Amino acid sequence: MMRQVAIYGKGGIGKSTTTQNLTVGLGEMGKKVMIVGCDPKADSTRLVLGGLAQKSVLDTLREEGEEVELDNILKIGKFGIRCVESGGPEPGVGCAGRGIITSINMLESLGAYTEDLDYVFYDVLGDVVCGGFAMPIREGKAKEIYIVASGELMALYAANNISKGVQRYANTGGCRLGGIICNSRKVDHERELLENFAQELGSQLIYFVPRDNLVQRAEINRKTVIDYAPEESQADEYRGLARAIDGNDMFVIPKPMGQERLEELMMKHGFLGL
Ligand code: ADP
Ligand code: MG
Repeated sequence: MMRQVAIYGKGGIGKSTTTQNLTVGLGEMGKKVMIVGCDPKADSTRLVLGGLAQKSVLDTLREEGEEVELDNILKIGKFGIRCVESGGPEPGVGCAGRGIITSINMLESLGAYTEDLDYVFYDVLGDVVCGGFAMPIREGKAKEIYIVASGELMALYAANNISKGVQRYANTGGCRLGGIICNSRKVDHERELLENFAQELGSQLIYFVPRDNLVQRAEINRKTVIDYAPEESQADEYRGLARAIDGNDMFVIPKPMGQERLEELMMKHGFLGL
């Protein structure tokens, strides 16, 4: 059975980095994976492709017209991972979320969702699940959601908002929250804070990814960590995340918090030591 997974989280929190490192972890396990980048930045697949320029679906449509073939928009990366970038409109023009709808429709009509796929990952931009960015979950494409967060207030604020979106579409689209991925910012008591935050939502902290400069070094070399430094502990962390997701069986309709409760939680953990 193909699992369709959406990764959400505040901008800059590490969604694209985490998604690529984790999917390479799944690839190493022998899983067949496709990544659909749903960010106008179109940087969701760069590391898996080893820096190869991937033309986005929207750019391809703009430049080549409607006669698009699968080869034009889908490139094969590390471990056979299939890579697609939705792209976006020119800045200031139109709705950025529309690219996602266009891309998914196009991928469906070109037969990209083959039965041998174990996973499709959607790397979706956005602090809030609105408009086109809600599309993967609203339309019931991705049933499994992970939110990347850290112990910083804005990251948790965004994660809480995103879970409101997941809750909203849970009945119509059938989406469920699979857990919170902590991409550490080395905040005090971060693990406990994230564990409590996830628990409060009725979910779980599925994995704690440490902050490590090796991630940037690999990125400069246009590689995922598993590819760049397979023996290092950070590579094992991404393998651990891949295994945690592969073995996950906790899928819930989240119960988002009110602003006051969220701040209370932050006070209790973040500032305990002061
Ligand atoms: P997003 O896709 O959420 O906007 P990115 O994946 O582009 O965020 O990450 C932003 C930056 O953070 C990247 O330059 C990346 O190298 C860095 N980064 C992400 N995760 C880690 C980590 N665990 N350790 C160190 N740097 C990280
Ligand atoms: Mg990104």
